[in-house]
Amino acid sequence: MFRKILIANRGEIALRVHRAAHDLGIRTVAVHSTADANAKHVRLADEAICIGPPPARDSYLNIPNIIAAAELSNADAIHPGYGFLSENARFAEIVEEHRIRWIGPAPEHIRLMGDKVEAKRTAARLGLPLVPGSDGPVATLAEARAIAADIGYPVIVKAAAGGGGRGMKVVEAADELETLMAQARSEAKAAFGDDTVYIEKYLAEPRHIEFQIFGDGQGNAIHLGERDCSLQRRHQKILEEAPSPALTAAERDRMGAICAAAMAELGYRGAGTLEFLWENGAFYFIEMNTRLQVEHPVTEMLTGLDLVREQIRIAAGLPLSLAQEEVRFRGAAIECRLNAEDPETFAPAPGTVAEYHAPGGMAVRVDSALYSGYRIPPYYDSLVAKLIVWGETREEARARMRRALEEFVIAGVKTTIPLHQRLIEEPDFAAGDYSIKWLERWLAQSRR
Ligand code: ADP
Repeated sequence: MFRKILIANRGEIALRVHRAAHDLGIRTVAVHSTADANAKHVRLADEAICIGPPPARDSYLNIPNIIAAAELSNADAIHPGYGFLSENARFAEIVEEHRIRWIGPAPEHIRLMGDKVEAKRTAARLGLPLVPGSDGPVATLAEARAIAADIGYPVIVKAAAGGGGRGMKVVEAADELETLMAQARSEAKAAFGDDTVYIEKYLAEPRHIEFQIFGDGQGNAIHLGERDCSLQRRHQKILEEAPSPALTAAERDRMGAICAAAMAELGYRGAGTLEFLWENGAFYFIEMNTRLQVEHPVTEMLTGLDLVREQIRIAAGLPLSLAQEEVRFRGAAIECRLNAEDPETFAPAPGTVAEYHAPGGMAVRVDSALYSGYRIPPYYDSLVAKLIVWGETREEARARMRRALEEFVIAGVKTTIPLHQRLIEEPDFAAGDYSIKWLERWLAQSRR
């Protein structure tokens, strides 16, 4: 097992990794920007090294400085968390070239899945069902027109290098295609430096259902069930839950087994998530994330497994800690993402946390790096806490979420707590009856 892990991230996920490492008796090294000198993960880690000024490109994305920090501190592994360098295949290679263990998948698999066109081709080869669309990148308008006419409008133009909902345009009719395709291209160019786009059928009212998988890199893989992440704003997840209110146990087992078999065939190593849209009982693969997800605690609450521990064990060359038959799903879990944002306008609202009291009690988990007096820096993501609850039934989980949100005090900054309080009371949410379109529609209505 490793002696020391360097955590190449910040905020709640850096803390999350630190905790898993310490639970295993492994020492940790925090790296941080000058803006994060007082961050909780920096205080708790065994060692801390400043890697640059506040902008992420100079610190959390600064590969030479992170590698230097790993060498200086004699870390034998690097955990990248999510975001930042977690899906940067070149970084993974550089880490391994320095004889530091990369806690993540093989760089070739990160690269393969990072290109969404290649990912779809691979998924098809591995027997996963796809959204109908272009079989590869779409280079010309004429080509786009032909494909769109063939699959039928509406269609969605997506960036091959996409992520975070950027570079995506929904095209309702043929006369909008030229403009919107050009927009998708320029957005993709600006965000990812690559203007390759492809086209998919735009599904009307799907749910977003994703499967958590783990592989050992030796041809063995298991699935840990699904998460329903349909409640989204601008293609960004707001609230996640498991199990999906839409799936039966038989559908979960069937689709989970397909996912695990695909990952076994690929020889995938570590944690991964296969994302699907689900409509009228059918799954359509959209992309794979080759890292830990923000919403992984939902799966942890349901299965009792520590996913970060599992990642560390696999990176250390140990086998999967359990077989598929040993995976148990119990009860229901819900996660609310609490952002330091205005709950009406969603404008980021960084500032100083005047007072902080996290909820507690049975089956309530808070993943957050906040504390009283902490100044939330304006440079990074606005996610400041994840509140996760578990219940024997979904209704029990919902009641517990209501109670926990009530208890939560984050004073001095605006957060999305009031939004979640309203959301969980909605009859459609109570009934589990929502698609990826639901939240935006609800927000538009409540503004009126
Ligand atoms: P990103 O990598 O930018 O997150 P994804 O491909 O994962 O992009 O898609 C993000 C979200 O966009 C999905 O969860 C879904 O809400 C919506 N979306 C993507 N593709 C489609 C599609 N073909 N039809 C309908 N909605 C889609």
